[in-house]
Amino acid sequence: MPSMRQSYTVTVPEEPPAAAFPFLKQEMRRKGSMSGSMLVSTFVGLLINQAKNSKSAQGLVGLKNLGNTCFMNSILQCLSNTHSLRDYCLHNSHRRDLNNNSRTNTALMEEFAKLLQTMWTSSSSEAVSPSEFKTQIQRYAPRFVGYNQQDAQEFLRFLLDGLHNEVNRVTVRPRGSVEDFDHLQDEEKGKKMWNKYLEREDSKIVDVFVGQLKSSLTCSHCGFCSTVFDPFWDLSLPIAKGYGEVSLMDCMRLFTKEDVLDGDEKPTCYRCKARRRCTKKFTIQKFPKILVLHLKRFSEARRTSKLSTYVNFPMKDLDLREFASENSINAVYNLYAVSNHSGTTMGGHYTAFCRNPNSGEWYTFNDSRVTPMSSSQVRSSDAYVLFYELASSSRM
Ligand SMILES: [Zn+2]
Repeated sequence: MPSMRQSYTVTVPEEPPAAAFPFLKQEMRRKGSMSGSMLVSTFVGLLINQAKNSKSAQGLVGLKNLGNTCFMNSILQCLSNTHSLRDYCLHNSHRRDLNNNSRTNTALMEEFAKLLQTMWTSSSSEAVSPSEFKTQIQRYAPRFVGYNQQDAQEFLRFLLDGLHNEVNRVTVRPRGSVEDFDHLQDEEKGKKMWNKYLEREDSKIVDVFVGQLKSSLTCSHCGFCSTVFDPFWDLSLPIAKGYGEVSLMDCMRLFTKEDVLDGDEKPTCYRCKARRRCTKKFTIQKFPKILVLHLKRFSEARRTSKLSTYVNFPMKDLDLREFASENSINAVYNLYAVSNHSGTTMGGHYTAFCRNPNSGEWYTFNDSRVTPMSSSQVRSSDAYVLFYELASSSRM
């Protein structure tokens, strides 16, 4: 690490582990101050050496269970192995986004970044306690207070939403205006709607996780087709029926299957100016860098039952081009993390299987325990939330 031997004029960072990354140079230069520069560069050097020699240098650190918090630990490990999000935290880039705004509360993002920094740079291989982070997530989403069994996918949504709000690049949201894009071609309309979304919601979290779904409504009477574009943070896939096992593609096809809206559900046709029987179909207009697929194993009615169907999903080359609205050139994904739920609705346990972004090896994260695993063990009927990375955005 010769570049780190240079002396930078920096203030002593409060969280030294973050400074163990050379890409901080710029950040450090920006925040100029004369104090402690030599001290920091020596300290940084030490930290790097320590980190290199420990297991934790590779993010292989367990998280303590704080009383039924396995749902949280499972999701945190999946996010910790999401390399662009991890790097955002390790480079301290979130600070720039926080600092650009005079926000009253930025504690959730701060604690999340601090936790990831500890997981990736701590010199100890001891399990880390996420209690400070948990305090903050509870402030944001009080429903995660207490020690009840929670749903990992719901937790993921709350967490990403909370992080996004604290690093949203939009500080003043434009006043809502009713613009009519209906005269435009679908592709153009999709782009306009996406830009409109970014005018309000624009963050690193959106860059990474958010895609755009197109729903097309076709009138059975006159054939008029109207389209609606909506951002999505994940896709909740119904589990296809089948004997023994079903494939992830079966679930995707079920999710995008043409649906008939009739009876009370009849929408008003724009051309007929009357309520008509319509067909509705989803396609993906914009594929996100990270695609989160949630397998709907739990019944929506108060989680009273669970489907333990084995869903066969590909580890590599999940090709979703058939679900694209346009002839999209890039819709091939590779799996890098899975949040698993074992057991029943009454008593269950969450773990995570993650592929380490540095080594490409798979590990089981079971609260405080981290153990290597074979990639052939990743697929199981416990798989609940799947994390896929767009092939071209992968560094590996
Ligand atoms: Zn019509």
